[in-house]
Amino acid sequence: MPVSEYSIADFLKEVKNYSPEELLLWSLRTFEVPNVVFASSLGAEDQVITDMLMNINPHPVICTLDTGRLPEQTYRLMDTTREKYGFRYRVLFPDYRDVETMVSNSGQNLFYESVEKRKQCCAVRKVYPLRRAFKGLSAWICGLRKEQSESRASVGKVEWDDNFGLYKINPLCDWTNEQVWEYLRKHQVPYNTLHDHGYPTIGCDPCTRAIRSGDQSRAGRWWWESAEHKECGLHSSEHAKVREPNGIFKRA
Ligand code: SF4
Repeated sequence: MPVSEYSIADFLKEVKNYSPEELLLWSLRTFEVPNVVFASSLGAEDQVITDMLMNINPHPVICTLDTGRLPEQTYRLMDTTREKYGFRYRVLFPDYRDVETMVSNSGQNLFYESVEKRKQCCAVRKVYPLRRAFKGLSAWICGLRKEQSESRASVGKVEWDDNFGLYKINPLCDWTNEQVWEYLRKHQVPYNTLHDHGYPTIGCDPCTRAIRSGDQSRAGRWWWESAEHKECGLHSSEHAKVREPNGIFKRA
């Protein structure tokens, strides 16, 4: 059957037993570089995917968001990773006009004032730049895992992402945290040193802190908010496993 006639159910059936590496290879072949991109936040999962991708295809498109508020350790990891694998990130910045307007109106640290203002900041610094980068593409790859939070428990290997209007591939969706770290150590993959200091996940500097023993892994993200708000808008909690794109997949 031509790819253009595949539904999400067809895709899921085809990739059901694929390992993360097989799923990555499948996605590169099905959607074709440069129409499929990997969006890395340089978290532990994304470092695993970077290593896998570089073993599969030496010229993947890997983009990353520079929100302007990242911890210094993340910038250092960006350089270390780039040097180790010999590729260039496509670094996405927010539109300076959006940032100027937002900060002029609401201050540098508006995110502490309300959920709405926090989401506004995430939209300006994360969602809009990715939306711009994804325009015209067929699929993106990301490091979501079911285990990470309740809102991610239904993540599938392939989904239709209504938020951005393209397919979303989640190669590590079934992996545990232990598998992620086993891979990083075994393959000597560079990782963010903040992970060694109580940060299971790392986002922007003012919105991430270390967790205490017994906390959920994402407890340190936007810690002043209640658990149901802990997404930045890049990953809709209503995962689109059963939804189909508006029309069928078309090769670019
Ligand atoms: S994580 Fe914090 S600083 Fe970063 S974009 Fe969201 S609200 Fe803004």
